[in-house]
Amino acid sequence: MAQILDGKAYADRMLEEVRLAVEAREAKGLAAPCLAVVLVGEDPASQVYVKGKVAACAKTGIRSVERRPASDISQSELNQVIDDLNGDPNVDGILVQLPLPRHLDAKAALHRISPAKDVDGFHPLNQGRLFEGLPGLRPCTPSAVMRMLKAHGLMMKGQRAVVLGRSEIVGKPMALMLLEEHATVTIAHSRTVDLPGVCREADILVAAIGRPGLVEGSWIKPGAVVVDVGINRVTDVSLGERIFAAEPAKLAKLREKGHVLCGDVRFGEAMQVASAVTPVPGGVGPLTIAGLMMNTLEACQGKPCD
Ligand code: NAD
Repeated sequence: MAQILDGKAYADRMLEEVRLAVEAREAKGLAAPCLAVVLVGEDPASQVYVKGKVAACAKTGIRSVERRPASDISQSELNQVIDDLNGDPNVDGILVQLPLPRHLDAKAALHRISPAKDVDGFHPLNQGRLFEGLPGLRPCTPSAVMRMLKAHGLMMKGQRAVVLGRSEIVGKPMALMLLEEHATVTIAHSRTVDLPGVCREADILVAAIGRPGLVEGSWIKPGAVVVDVGINRVTDVSLGERIFAAEPAKLAKLREKGHVLCGDVRFGEAMQVASAVTPVPGGVGPLTIAGLMMNTLEACQGKPCD
């Protein structure tokens, strides 16, 4: 049976580290870091995510401010909101919650954020810094995953790593960070031929595709470390019967409640083959929020990023 990589427990350690650093700043008479969250409109999932981020701020002593423009805000009005936050010396980090309403250009909004306050690490300047292996604000999900893997003493040097998914938020930065640790990295995606065969080569398999239970136990190399970034809400019982065949408790919950959360990997099957697996929920999700708190602290402390 594989070890469960408890992302929630490791995230709590990261949050405590941030809390102590904030406390130490305040003891020296320095202000606590401040995160500004911009939430456009009323998207229910985004509201839940923002709530989680604001709660993590409260837990660590980071101050938070929210800007909640209506969903019909124009691009130039949104630019103004971001410009105001960029120019506010009391704000250290700015996060624009995605997705934005369809009439808005998300990339333009993200590129508008000052690189020094870009706590999501999505600005091209910060992405370029990551590409060059320079310090800077890095995307929260992959950087927190790397932290946890290192804390578990995982050897990456020379290992075969496969990253499933090539998004700018997770897949691409994850691959660069594994490369930085001297892993031999393959990025696989929706057009990859023989996905199961490619995955089976991985000593470290990171799935970030948003397809519930796509990765079967037979796709996993015995002894591999599996990181499941996907967060999927499953409501279809016939799908559940296939992907939760090795997880009777999850299937029972789906039948009872009508919905469950799961990752891109069939957790029950992975547990029988891998050496370590992150669960969903309780794996990468909490790590991402803890990564955001780390980045806000880093932005406040003025690490070189612009
Ligand atoms: P995205 O939609 O931007 O990218 C998905 C990627 O998966 C694409 O590169 C695509 O090529 C690939 N893909 C899609 N279908 C595929 C298939 N059938 N086979 C192989 N590759 C396929 O997604 P994203 O923003 O990177 O997010 C991926 C997942 O991770 C989602 O479930 C998202 O909710 C989750 N996520 C979780 C966290 C977290 O904190 N845990 C953070 C970010 C994203």
